[in-house]
Amino acid sequence: MLEGLPPNNAATVLRLTCSEAQARTAADVIVEFFDPAETAAAAFEDEDSPADPKPWALEVFFGHPPDEVYVRGLLEGAVGAECAQGAVFGQVAERDWVARSLEGLHAVRAGRFLVHGSHDRPFVRSHDVALEIEAALAFGTGHHGTTRGCLIMLDGLLKRRRPHHVLDLGTGTGVLAMAAAKVLHRPVRCGDIDRIAVEAAAANARQNGVGTSVRPVVSVGTRHATLRAGAPYDFIFANILAKPLRLLAPEIRAVAAQDAALILSGLLPRDVPGILSSYAAQGFALRRRLTLEGWCTLLLG
Ligand code: SAH
Repeated sequence: MLEGLPPNNAATVLRLTCSEAQARTAADVIVEFFDPAETAAAAFEDEDSPADPKPWALEVFFGHPPDEVYVRGLLEGAVGAECAQGAVFGQVAERDWVARSLEGLHAVRAGRFLVHGSHDRPFVRSHDVALEIEAALAFGTGHHGTTRGCLIMLDGLLKRRRPHHVLDLGTGTGVLAMAAAKVLHRPVRCGDIDRIAVEAAAANARQNGVGTSVRPVVSVGTRHATLRAGAPYDFIFANILAKPLRLLAPEIRAVAAQDAALILSGLLPRDVPGILSSYAAQGFALRRRLTLEGWCTLLLG
């Protein structure tokens, strides 16, 4: 499947069979060292294996060809030389790599949510809040630790309160906005700086039956009038990255209700102190912190 593609039109995929702990550690290390916008790393149980118990696998898609020697060195540090020797590099057609990164992986659970592609529809159980995402050129398939962290945080928050006015900044595929719209049965305002992401999010919202309640707009932060008009919000997602999140702190405060809850993600552990001080200056305190695959998700309020 991975053979025979011209290298100049290819992205690189790395596969390693190992234990669960090794796969998780290796995924953490890879996402720490590569640009998350260009790299998808996932650790999962290899359901196709006939072995019992089933082994785990690490699968990494690189948007740009990585230095294989460097990657092997990282893997050796993470899982030991013997295991790292089993790493196999292959290639997939470049335009397909995002789709493949979803296809090759199985549906991902995050609390009550199940993020899946159309091929995994049979795995949806009756009580799941299912989010069907076709991997487009927008970020947010639920396999990334930041998206999953936000969904898990939302799931926990919903056990304690029921937000009424929700905003999702940096919506990507629209996954978080759709999750909130589905459980709350309310419109969710959302925006992204990237027009392709906005188009993908609108298509995903229609596909998921929330096309009327999730209408993404192209907006830098909260600049679009539609996003400002929905204020004050009692619940805001912003899964972006540390630098834009620090810059956005005052405008997030400006559209937030007094007792608003914020879920922020896209943060490495070293980013957290700076983010906490920027948001403390706006009156927000840390309520919960979750780290997945090396990414921190924060609940502030
Ligand atoms: N919310 C999705 C996607 C997160 S990726 C999820 O959780 O999976 C981050 C998104 O933020 C990208 O789609 C990017 O285009 C967008 N983004 C980056 N800076 C932004 C800004 N200043 N304002 C709005 N969106 C921004």
